[in-house]
Amino acid sequence: ALDTGWAVRWMHETARVVAENRALLIDLDRVIGDADHGENLDRGFSAVVAKLDAGDAPATPAAVLKQAAMTLMSTVGGAAGPLYGTAFLRAATSLGDAGEIDAGAAAGMIRAARDGIVARGKAEVGDKTMVDAWTPATESAETAAQAGATPPEVLAAAANAAHAGAVATEPLIARKGRASYLGERSAGHQDPGAVSTALILTAAAAAAG
Ligand code: ADP
Ligand code: MG
Ligand code: MG
Repeated sequence: ALDTGWAVRWMHETARVVAENRALLIDLDRVIGDADHGENLDRGFSAVVAKLDAGDAPATPAAVLKQAAMTLMSTVGGAAGPLYGTAFLRAATSLGDAGEIDAGAAAGMIRAARDGIVARGKAEVGDKTMVDAWTPATESAETAAQAGATPPEVLAAAANAAHAGAVATEPLIARKGRASYLGERSAGHQDPGAVSTALILTAAAAAAG
């Protein structure tokens, strides 16, 4: 079930995969940015986990995600800190005080995160940002929920779509963020934030299964 324990496992699993892919994210950000995305996220999610390990577990999934949002905002920095902070904050708000998340709420949580990123960063689909992973993830999650998928299946659908969305950023020319300074030279590499989004959503699905 997608309960408080799942939310805590999601944060631990995210910290683990971000650490494991730290060098990959740094390399992706080196070619089209400033080589800090892996370091920024590793620092942020390590802090999220340290906070969870240090205190009493928050009472609801939303409380876990809200605490994570606050920690990410104060530790990640760069473009991704405020964007992921907003995403987790909006996701938390969408869940209310529910102790367990059903399929519709799981899809709604992903939509809320995606809409928060768009509200904050003003990127559109095709701008070669994390929005190119979050948007197909949202659409696949909603389609799965409407078709009667279980909550873990909704997360798995989102993760698969995010991964495909990240891969599809490779030929794009960046129109937002640092990578946009490169113009046409930004084509030929996946966007680091889209790749980290796929890691985060894959961790969500893994924590559920
Ligand atoms: P910085 O570019 O400030 O060093 P990071 O390297 O941590 O920050 O994050 C870069 C990622 O942030 C990009 O790969 C992209 O996915 C995302 N990003 C940057 N600007 C925007 C934006 N306006 N909207 C959505 N995502 C963005
Ligand atoms: Mg960077
Ligand atoms: Mg930076």
